[in-house]
Amino acid sequence: MATPLRVLIHGGGIGGLTLATALARCGHRVRVAELRGELDALGVGIIQPSNALHVMREIGVLDACLTAGFGWDTLTICDPVGNTLAKIPQPRMDEAPASLGIPRPALAAVLGAAATAAGAELTFGTTVTELADDGDGVDVTLADGSTGRWDLVVGFDGIGSPLRKRLYGGRFAPEYTGFANWRVTVPRQPEVQGVLMSTGDRTAKALLTPITEELMYLGAVFAEAEDFRPDPERAHEQLAERLAAFGGPVAEALTEVTDPAAVVYSRISQVTVEEPWHVGRVVLAGDAAHASTPHLAQGAAMAVEDALVLARSLEEEENVPAALAAWEARRRPRAMWVQNLSRAVLKQETGTPTTPEEDELLKIGIPGAAHVLVQPY
Ligand SMILES: Cc1cc2nc3c(=O)[nH]c(=O)nc-3n(C[C@H](O)[C@H](O)[C@H](O)COP(=O)(O)OP(=O)(O)OC[C@H]3O[C@@H](n4cnc5c(N)ncnc54)[C@H](O)[C@@H]3O)c2cc1C
Repeated sequence: MATPLRVLIHGGGIGGLTLATALARCGHRVRVAELRGELDALGVGIIQPSNALHVMREIGVLDACLTAGFGWDTLTICDPVGNTLAKIPQPRMDEAPASLGIPRPALAAVLGAAATAAGAELTFGTTVTELADDGDGVDVTLADGSTGRWDLVVGFDGIGSPLRKRLYGGRFAPEYTGFANWRVTVPRQPEVQGVLMSTGDRTAKALLTPITEELMYLGAVFAEAEDFRPDPERAHEQLAERLAAFGGPVAEALTEVTDPAAVVYSRISQVTVEEPWHVGRVVLAGDAAHASTPHLAQGAAMAVEDALVLARSLEEEENVPAALAAWEARRRPRAMWVQNLSRAVLKQETGTPTTPEEDELLKIGIPGAAHVLVQPY
């Protein structure tokens, strides 16, 4: 489309800021409406696999990410006491490392600065309160009282997406998997030069992920009741109890975990929107449309791929409806493949029975998935 579009992005997380940057760099008028009061993020890290790094290169922030994070090319598998069982080289895209660990607040800062520099308007502490799509445009009122007419509204508003509820009612709510993730940032041990995956008995796994020269995070998944919440006074002890079978680097990392408030607890859910991801000129993307379990570390990678491909579809197609259809045709199969394999890996690792379809998917495994996902998206 030759004409600059007016695009409202609901949600200034990883996907929303990537889309804002990509669109503003093409000359479109972009506003991001973010509920939080400022550009912040959970105080733990995130893995950017090679396909996410490729998107970062395309929107001009790869060097900033590499400076803020810690790159690696090899996945190390250990036994529970830290003896190395395997070192698995990971595929690269271009010259970037195969993967990068980065603190989430640092990634938010990089993407926020890029979106602003490209000309996008970031607004905080606000949300959509009214929305009316007449087929040619969408009239929106925000909580701050401002009104505007947009060619496209994009819901990059996360797994709990209020826009999804507005479009589909309760039909595609997050489905709790029965498992939750515990994460905490600790000093990086010198030998942790890439993800170190330590597998205990059939149902226990701990990951150490470097995110800077100085820091790494410890992550682990356990079965938890849906209404369980860690005790604010002793979350660090509850995590240590769950990881009692581990020695080596995991046990050493645990000795650094002394503040219960530093432990981040997230229930693992997934979302599958089984109808088209757009209704008229309002579209869902990233976690709002297809949140996965984190077992391939691909949720944010899918969100940033969604963002870049959406920006390109809007450039290539004649009009907004055609762009949304072309975009979804390209994105849905890959996002669903990631979701299905991620869920299958969760089941395999936690001893949950799998279906024949999941057994078929699991033949590829985590290292094989990296080789599939390094292919163009
Ligand atoms: C334990 C765990 C570990 C993970 N590890 C990885 C990993 O290593 N690598 C990876 O690629 N992915 C990982 N993920 C997944 C990744 O975090 C998500 O897939 C990614 O953040 C999705 O991006 P998004 O932009 O769609 O949503 P988000 O990043 O969640 O952003 C949504 C934004 O919308 C805003 N918002 C919400 N409601 C409103 C509203 N009403 N109005 C305005 N704004 C609103 C939120 O404040 C937020 O800023 C992990 C997920 C979990 C749970």
